[in-house]
Amino acid sequence: MLRGLMQERPLLTSSLIEYADIYHGDTEIVTRTIEGPIHRTTYREAHRRARKLANALTAIGVKPGERVGTLAWNTYRHFEAYYAISGIGAVCHTINPRLFESQIAYIANHAEDRVLFLDLTFVDLVERLAPTLETIGRYVVMTDAAHMPKTRLKNAVCYEEFIAGASDSFIWPTFDEMAASSLCYTSGTTGNPKGVLYAHRSTVLHSFGACMTDVLGLSARDSVLVIVPLFHANAWGLPYAAPMVGAKLVFPGSKLDGQSVFELLETEKVTFTAGVPTVWLMLLEHLSKSGKDLPFLERLVCGGSAMPRSMIEAFELKYDVRAIHAWGMTEMSPLGTLGLLKAKHAALDKAHQIDVLCKQGRGVYGVEMKIVDDKSSELPRDGKAFGNLMVRGPWICRSYFKAEGSAVDANGWFHTGDVATLDPDGYMQITDRSKDVIKSGGEWISSIDLENAAVGHPKVKEACVIGVRHPKWDERPLLLVVPCDGQSPTKDELIEFLRDKVVKWWLPDDVVVLKELPHTATGKLLKAKLREEYKDYELPTAKLQHSPASD
Ligand code: ADP
Repeated sequence: MLRGLMQERPLLTSSLIEYADIYHGDTEIVTRTIEGPIHRTTYREAHRRARKLANALTAIGVKPGERVGTLAWNTYRHFEAYYAISGIGAVCHTINPRLFESQIAYIANHAEDRVLFLDLTFVDLVERLAPTLETIGRYVVMTDAAHMPKTRLKNAVCYEEFIAGASDSFIWPTFDEMAASSLCYTSGTTGNPKGVLYAHRSTVLHSFGACMTDVLGLSARDSVLVIVPLFHANAWGLPYAAPMVGAKLVFPGSKLDGQSVFELLETEKVTFTAGVPTVWLMLLEHLSKSGKDLPFLERLVCGGSAMPRSMIEAFELKYDVRAIHAWGMTEMSPLGTLGLLKAKHAALDKAHQIDVLCKQGRGVYGVEMKIVDDKSSELPRDGKAFGNLMVRGPWICRSYFKAEGSAVDANGWFHTGDVATLDPDGYMQITDRSKDVIKSGGEWISSIDLENAAVGHPKVKEACVIGVRHPKWDERPLLLVVPCDGQSPTKDELIEFLRDKVVKWWLPDDVVVLKELPHTATGKLLKAKLREEYKDYELPTAKLQHSPASD
């Protein structure tokens, strides 16, 4: 092999903020602060403060490879910490504050975090946990002296004081691009959370991927509202992708209710935003109550869980916002597929376009995908066969942090745990999580399809379908719904509503109306808990030894 003669400049995250400073120095970063007011800064100033923070961290002895934890919302200080920590070669470990307290302690100890940056919101929580946090020697509360509370945390200092005395001259070091840049634990609905250790190289390559037109398609003309938390798979890469193209950044702090999100969309003339379905549900409720519109917003990316058709229709048809379905995983940095249309879809009517938009999207260059059966044989890409979804690529996890063995098979494929179809146009559609799929009479029923159909009912706010034991069919679907305010849908009207939307033998055997459904720390339905709760649920069809499937 003849080696190429091009430069081997390493791909490091510091190059992103450096670029944004030089080419987009006056582009704004706007934050709804935890303290309350809206704060405005620029890429140039954020870079200057990241250099001060880099000096401050170096001064207290943080070394390359060591982990620095963050327990914080989306703010400019958290953004600066991202760049300062990784920029000196240390590892930015974002911790999800919505996890159980015992899991937070487990994660911080497992990662061996040396320093913890925390928001004001979490001072009480961390004071409670501190006796169990074995490796943290210093706490930096992300606020200024005026808002710094009295705290018993060891060596606690407020962020502004921590960086105040530090010089803003700092040359970002050059090192191996395979060095770890950040660490994020999957929420681990079963077992202990697992750490995904991103590299500088994987992060920069993922940013190139994210910026492509048919992926997030960011540009210097965009104003980007980062709803997805900085602690959820690096906010889907937005804090790296936005500086790469000089897009304006808008951070919502801790306020994700419909009204607060709407205010930022309007005042900051946001053109692009991304988050999980729960947040968009709250926004839609606010819009419908207040009668407001979305004149500036062009694209809204929704991922983390399936985006129901009714949500796509509301954004596309009512508010003229392109609703873009995204699929990925913490283990994938996280982007895997994005659901934009192809040229050939332009001729379709809106309903058929929405059929395409309902799929999880087309594979992004850089992510290889295939579906296989239980014997690992590849299945056809015909949009019908469904099987275990496998992925491979330079921004996909190879092993978990401090875990024995590999996370991939002998050929480098990572098993996503999702069951999906792939169609000839390259669109992937999730049928289910492999553990959520309902196995009825030897056939599979997609809980996601049923849920998406059920939330289309005007009286239903949220729906969840789980498999419940059945003497004849092994498992049958049980539909759990949370009604819209003031509504009380009946079983009969819901089943009637689903009748023309799914095949007959998929119809749920029973319906339970609940006040709320449990969610994971990343906003997904906690189906494992519901399955446990309803494991002895007696379906009416079980008593009769009869089910719709036998009709
Ligand atoms: P966690 O939230 O548990 O930390 P991830 O955010 O990595 O983990 O979750 C990844 C999983 O979320 C995927 O494997 C898939 O099951 C689900 N998921 C993500 N996006 C979508 C989507 N657009 N539609 C359906 N499921 C999705």
